[in-house]
Amino acid sequence: MAVTARGEGRYEVANREGRTYVVDLPESDCTCPDHRIRGQSCKHIRRVAIEVTRGRVPAPGKVRGTCRGCEGEAFVPEDGPAYCRGCRLEPGDLATDRETGDAVLVASVTDERADGVEVGDTGQSVADYETNEGYPRDDPVVEVVYPFGGATLEERRRYSFPHSRLLPRDAALVDADVGEA
Ligand SMILES: [Zn+2]
Ligand SMILES: [Zn+2]
Repeated sequence: MAVTARGEGRYEVANREGRTYVVDLPESDCTCPDHRIRGQSCKHIRRVAIEVTRGRVPAPGKVRGTCRGCEGEAFVPEDGPAYCRGCRLEPGDLATDRETGDAVLVASVTDERADGVEVGDTGQSVADYETNEGYPRDDPVVEVVYPFGGATLEERRRYSFPHSRLLPRDAALVDADVGEA
């Protein structure tokens, strides 16, 4: 049986006879007669679950795409910025600034776009800021602090970066997890 992800938790399952059924995995629903008429948990739903577990098709909420961070093919969120699991930043993560090599600590990941946030009172957006020119203008803005400053974390100045400029410090270690549910 061949399984193809169709988005929003739905998968097409084609059998050897060329019939195609649609499985809705979050709803545990299938269009085949076994399921529709007899109300049984069918082999199509089981097949989709297996394919997802093995990382051959994306889990519900994910799609196959190109990660903005590492530019590798990965399962990325269906909605929201396309970062693989290894490249997606969370508050508290240590990251490397790709431009300077500095270690930074992620303070927050915002919903705002790089071209919609001003850098200090420069009148320039994060996207237009000189050293950020190579990064996507619609990147979410990530606020970071420098981890080895003198003040307490709350007192430290926050700096805004486009997400793709920051490389998670443990990216190499978690790359093996890319594609898991
Ligand atoms: Zn079925
Ligand atoms: Zn990535």
